[in-house]
Amino acid sequence: GSNANAAHFVFVPLREQGHLIPAVDTALLLASHGAVCTIVGPPSTAALVRPTVDSAQRSGLQVRLAEFPLDYAASGLPEGADAGDSIPPMHMWSYYRAMALLREPIESYLRGAHAAPFPTCVVSDFIHPWTTELAANLGVPRLSFFSMCAFGLLCHHNLERFNAWDGVEDPNAPVVVPGLERRFVVTRAQAPGFFRGIPIPCWEEFADYIERARAEADGVIMNKFEEMEPEYVAGYAAARNMKVWTVGPVATYHQTRTTLASTLASRGLRACAVDADECIRWLDGQAPGSVVYVSFGSISRAEPKQVVEIGLGLEASGHPFIWVLRNAGDYDEATRAFLGELEARVAGRGLLVRGWAPQLLVLSHDAVGGFVTHCGWNSTLEAVAAGLPVVTWPHFTDQFLNEKLAVEVLGIGVSVGVTEPLTFQAVKKEIVVGREVVEAAVRSVMGAGEEAEERRRRARALAAKAKAAAEVGGSSHTNLLDLVKRFQPG
Ligand code: UDP
Repeated sequence: GSNANAAHFVFVPLREQGHLIPAVDTALLLASHGAVCTIVGPPSTAALVRPTVDSAQRSGLQVRLAEFPLDYAASGLPEGADAGDSIPPMHMWSYYRAMALLREPIESYLRGAHAAPFPTCVVSDFIHPWTTELAANLGVPRLSFFSMCAFGLLCHHNLERFNAWDGVEDPNAPVVVPGLERRFVVTRAQAPGFFRGIPIPCWEEFADYIERARAEADGVIMNKFEEMEPEYVAGYAAARNMKVWTVGPVATYHQTRTTLASTLASRGLRACAVDADECIRWLDGQAPGSVVYVSFGSISRAEPKQVVEIGLGLEASGHPFIWVLRNAGDYDEATRAFLGELEARVAGRGLLVRGWAPQLLVLSHDAVGGFVTHCGWNSTLEAVAAGLPVVTWPHFTDQFLNEKLAVEVLGIGVSVGVTEPLTFQAVKKEIVVGREVVEAAVRSVMGAGEEAEERRRRARALAAKAKAAAEVGGSSHTNLLDLVKRFQPG
């Protein structure tokens, strides 16, 4: 058929939203350039992805979805452990083992006539080493997919390669990242030994597992644009001796659609807790650049006492805000009452979203002028693409290095000054950042003054580069076309 000469990418994503959303967006982009893409995964992943895939199919893209049941018992995973918002850390290792058991069924599915044309490339989340075998059995290359910053990846790589942690007992002792031209200081607690600070059983074994998945790839696809951190993209490619395709920001796929509002709203793989049109109407009523958007991603949860400090800090800042509370339903009565009273006091000036927010839609609106972020890579990149300065408040994993990129490399961020991952802090104190600090950081990013202007100017310049990268002839656009061409059969 007409597909015979098409590149066919098999995507094996990880189900965490921060990994899944950009992987699916990348598949949509490749498909929009003529490739066939098959996204494979267990039913819990497929359920999150299905509406997006259905809508892509309706618009004529060759994106498919194939699901394979997990064998919970065989890998010691409790039945339904993957049903919630994210995999609980204590079950992660079993979950990855259960995923590895999908190799055989996926392979035989892909060999079937109904999966034709025969795959030409496997694109898997950097966390799945078993996909190397899958690709090898199919006789095709495997690229690993990263929605992470090259700066952070290179820091991590160098810290491990030069054994920077040898003899460093204190998790808060500063260490200079080896092998970089500029001087960056991190602590072991902040370094993304990816799940350091999160209580994962068999951590060492798990770290080896991830390293194997990275080292054995034939190449890398990254959700970022080259001009954002050129020396670190090149540095990572050289350190790994791998070709790197930068294809981001992949969220631009949605920004080029005509029905902007509805696609942006449905892009989150969860149903939104606010009506997208209502959200836009609210933003339409605010002055340009006046609103601060506050969100800590899909996994992080704020403790009740911390929530109070954030709320009072935002109120005291005097700026209009949209504040996303992922776990509002879990709060005790006093905290819920506090939120209700706050909402009444800031009526018209503050919008609380209790659940999933249409983040991309909000960030694209002119009224938004800043973003208080946990520095998840996707959020950081989305801020950059929207030309917004950020207040940085990392929680865990790679977020501390993303903060360094935003504050020290790109010069678009003001830090709230958190030095340890959330899990380290939580056992010590529930209030990590006080209301005065929240207020000061928001004022500093949103306010007038030379420094704030400079930050905004740099953020806008980066956004222009992001846009150029995604346009015909731009670096990310060119890399997408190269992928589609390079992985054509024959
Ligand atoms: N997101 C969203 N609405 C929410 C929370 C998150 O649309 O209420 C999206 C956000 O735009 C981003 C992703 O979910 O694309 C979160 O990824 P990120 O890397 O920022 O953080 P993580 O969730 O992995 O900690």
